[in-house]
Amino acid sequence: YAKGPTTLRDVALFSQGYGARDFLVYDGYRCTYAEHYRLVAGLARSLREEYGLVSGDRVAIAMRNYPEWVPIFWAIQAAGLVAVPLNAWWTDAELRFGLTDCGAKLVFADSQRTALLDRDIPVIEVRGGDPAPGVRAWAELLASLPADADLPDVAIGPDDDATILYTSGTTGRPKGAIGTHRNHCTNLLNTVVNRRVQAALANGGEFPPLGEGPQPGVLLTFPMFHIAGLTTLYFGTLAGAKLATMYRWDREAAARLIKTEGLTSAAGVPTVMRDLVEQGDAVAGLDGVNMGGAPIPPDLVQRIGAFGTGVAPSNGYGLTETTSAVVGNAGADYLARSNSVGRCMPGTDLRVVDPATGEDTAPGEIGELWFRGPNIVRGYWNNPQATAESFIDGWFRTGDLGYVEDDWVYVVDRLKDVVIRGGENVYCAEVEAALYEHPEVADVAVIGLPHPTLGEEVAAVVNLHSPVSPEELRSHVAARLAAFKVPAHVVVRAEALPRTPTGKVLKRQLREQIAVKD
Ligand code: ATP
Repeated sequence: YAKGPTTLRDVALFSQGYGARDFLVYDGYRCTYAEHYRLVAGLARSLREEYGLVSGDRVAIAMRNYPEWVPIFWAIQAAGLVAVPLNAWWTDAELRFGLTDCGAKLVFADSQRTALLDRDIPVIEVRGGDPAPGVRAWAELLASLPADADLPDVAIGPDDDATILYTSGTTGRPKGAIGTHRNHCTNLLNTVVNRRVQAALANGGEFPPLGEGPQPGVLLTFPMFHIAGLTTLYFGTLAGAKLATMYRWDREAAARLIKTEGLTSAAGVPTVMRDLVEQGDAVAGLDGVNMGGAPIPPDLVQRIGAFGTGVAPSNGYGLTETTSAVVGNAGADYLARSNSVGRCMPGTDLRVVDPATGEDTAPGEIGELWFRGPNIVRGYWNNPQATAESFIDGWFRTGDLGYVEDDWVYVVDRLKDVVIRGGENVYCAEVEAALYEHPEVADVAVIGLPHPTLGEEVAAVVNLHSPVSPEELRSHVAARLAAFKVPAHVVVRAEALPRTPTGKVLKRQLREQIAVKD
């Protein structure tokens, strides 16, 4: 391992060394690294030998965050196949699209998803009862596995495909980003380096000895089908951590898990981590709260920091196409600059490009963020047109607007969400951050609504802890930002804002709902 892992199969092999340590914990289910490895080896053999799958074949996973997700993923990697984790919130039509688009040869599905699937490809049903005709039960598959199998002997190269991950589709039809082993291993090693540096900074500049101290334990609340969840999963596996997952978010249950399992960090989207923070004591015992997937309001970073220097907030900015974080911020740095997503990961190049001209902007000016590096995926599956639009001469266009100051990166908005009011650009994240500073604001999204003369007008949709008048919220923003950024409309919603499973507000849906009401 002098070079570190170069394929995900290496990580699966390496994890065997953690032996009797606890690995997966889920609602009464638990298994050790040794038990997990035996399962992975048996499953990987079955995929190759019984199912006859060959390198490059796609195997889909259509499941909520059940613990079985993990050995299924590692078995697919160890067998040299391509894992296609599908969004567990997808409808039957979306699942059909994903399976057909990637040409999956086999799908592992939980019982809720099995009920939605056509039976034109083999289905293995996890956590079901008696399987329907044509469906194989997970328990029956397990019973058929060889007891002491080793991983199948397959050759995998760093540039072979490891995953196809569908983008969440908040701005259009899902596209399958093809991640290679090199993409994932780069992401993995970046995460390792970042965590080591963070640990050293928290330890007075000294690197703490590797492998000593209590076992790390992670509350993994990101969906594992999303790149942020997958990163947490494979980083945790390499680090020998205990991983605790939940079927759905429940803050009291999460707080109990942290305590009873002695977890040391939590990972999730900002809305979920905000809910955990509001639970108070649970966070106080953690050494890290790792967030990403959606913009992180600075007030949340400060609230995490307020638990004390031991509780480090961290932010990974990235996309499915950048294989998770290309920019990161953490600990004291993040507390000092909580509106910055951080600095580029090692080996990542960044350009800030004027979307109108395609030229680089002047230093400090806002433009579209373009990235290049070994973690950028090689394109979209089955979609040369979308690939040609987003991947240009080795650079990937994110569709996010931002700027760089002294190497610190600031993300201001998604290109498609910027509100253009009478020729002035209003960046939603800035107005949202100002509103979050109001103590009664629980959740907020800023959107543009059509206006006859201005083109667009700024609107804020808010969910409140207790009633506050729209006028008060408007003057709260007016005290912080220029008048043209103050929302002309403040729409109070009794219910939570519609979000993707990865924490992004469905702004298109909000714009439609509000336009209809008007
Ligand atoms: P689609 O492109 O189909 O709409 P998606 O972009 O929602 O899907 P993801 O790859 O999950 O799919 O989302 C990436 C986007 O999420 C980024 O472009 C950025 O706008 C936002 N994002 C992710 N992490 C952060 C972060 N830490 N801070 C700010 N924004 C973030």
